[in-house]
Amino acid sequence: MSSYDVAIIGSGPGGYVAAIRCAQLGMKTAIIEKYATLGGTCLNVGCIPSKALLDSSHHYEDAIKHFDTHGIEIPGEIKVNLEKMIGRKQAVVDQTTGGIQFLMKKNNIDVFEGLGSFKDATHINIAKKDGTTETIEAKNIIIATGSKPSSLPFIKIDKQRVITSTEALKLKEVPKHMLIIGGGVIGLELGQVYKRLGADVTVIEYMDRIIPGMDGALSKELAKVLKKQKIKFALSHKVKSVERNGNEVIVKADNKKGEEVAFTGDYCLVAVGRHAYTDGLNLEAAGVKQEERGRVAVNAHLQTNVSNIYAIGDVIKGAMLAHKAEEEGTLVAEILAGQKPHIDYNLIPGVVYTWPEVAAVGKTEEELKDAGVEYKVGQFPMRALGRARASMDVDGFVKIIADKKTDEVLGVHMIGARVADLISEAVVAMEFRASAEDISRMSHAHPTYAEAVKEAALAATEDRALHI
Ligand code: FAD
Ligand code: NAD
Repeated sequence: MSSYDVAIIGSGPGGYVAAIRCAQLGMKTAIIEKYATLGGTCLNVGCIPSKALLDSSHHYEDAIKHFDTHGIEIPGEIKVNLEKMIGRKQAVVDQTTGGIQFLMKKNNIDVFEGLGSFKDATHINIAKKDGTTETIEAKNIIIATGSKPSSLPFIKIDKQRVITSTEALKLKEVPKHMLIIGGGVIGLELGQVYKRLGADVTVIEYMDRIIPGMDGALSKELAKVLKKQKIKFALSHKVKSVERNGNEVIVKADNKKGEEVAFTGDYCLVAVGRHAYTDGLNLEAAGVKQEERGRVAVNAHLQTNVSNIYAIGDVIKGAMLAHKAEEEGTLVAEILAGQKPHIDYNLIPGVVYTWPEVAAVGKTEEELKDAGVEYKVGQFPMRALGRARASMDVDGFVKIIADKKTDEVLGVHMIGARVADLISEAVVAMEFRASAEDISRMSHAHPTYAEAVKEAALAATEDRALHI
């Protein structure tokens, strides 16, 4: 029987990063993945394929809507070849997952393909595709089995017309009318993809605003921009049934007044969140405890109730984000090596890759209000930037919230072109506990979108933005 210092179950961004860091720290490492390709949800059916389709559909939208204004004339009709677009996405996925395979080899990590399940607290059975089972032994085990799409109890996901994000990433036709249940990250990113490709899109959301976890100002501005792009929203609607009638899907919901509203489309994307995935793991055999919503329960060191078993990423509490899973993978590896690493969960940024992009880190204004913290706000609109006008991306703003007395930055909330990348400046600033004045006194290259960060910091410090 093969024996390891550490075995990791699941090869998503949590699992594969944990494996690399364990190997870097000198541990004999194994990783077990039930699918043939490594990389988990993120690389196969999540972050990477969704961004590939967002980018392709963005090019198409630019070509049909904006090229002409830039003085670029294309003779003849511009058409979408969906099969080719989905094919390119798959090529990006294949290249990226192949890269993880290479990294495992480079770091001398043993990769096992098969379903991992606990035999006991130090042994894992691996059920392979050929029907055989191999057992390995490990001193330490990291559970990194991720998450699966959630649904509503009365919905039957048929994977044809009533679908999750996984199917939405490989549709064979552009829907005529895509109904989307859930105005969160997946609903809006994939909704925008299909809107750009020509579908009518209606988002049915339970709460009174989209992206409900983010700062209210971002929800408002994003809704405004997406409405301009002709995406329809039915907010404060409680979905109560989803039925298929041939190629039609009918979604019924109760609106705020309690009246029944019916929506008819040809596809319905269910995007109401994800839940921890532990099917087939046989946690009971190792005595590992779970908490609410099936999540694996862990302490501050991400250790389960069984001392040599840890858990990371989507399968535990916290934001379901690839970079959060990665940080946790590194943290556990370093704890196993005797180090004392730390993660500040308040400083894990959140990004929505619509266009304009949305990005945030730290506290929202609503959270600070609820906590009774005294704060001040500086906000700067993208349209006041030369760079934004040059590229015709004028929607959005940067909002910086700072402590009223100390000026320490408490939260940064952005919407606009390229803010997914701009948010890193805010993360660095907040990691070093910068004040708004600190940011405002740093030189920001001109002309860039980053100037909006400096201007918002000036506005937060002394209400003295320069260009507005
Ligand atoms: P996962 O990536 O889910 O990986 C878990 C792995 O474990 C899977 O490969 C699974 O097959 C394997 N596994 C499970 N059980 C077993 C078992 N018993 N034996 C062997 N293997 C097993 N996050 C971002 O930060 N940015 C984004 O842009 C983003 N976009 C997304 C878009 C979509 C459409 C979706 C669905 C998600 C997106 N996410 C994004 C979220 C991100 O994908 C997850 O947060 C991330 O993948 C979690 O990583 P993980 O390692 O915890 O789990
Ligand atoms: P989400 O939590 O972002 O959004 C779910 C939405 O569905 C919420 O707005 C919620 O109010 C709504 N909802 C819940 N029940 C409903 C009901 N019965 N009727 C109508 N609306 C309902 O979840 P998601 O969009 O499914 O994404 C799942 C996870 O994947 C998220 O945790 C997210 O972090 C991750 N993800 C991240 C990215 C990114 O980082 N860019 C992209 C995609 C997914």
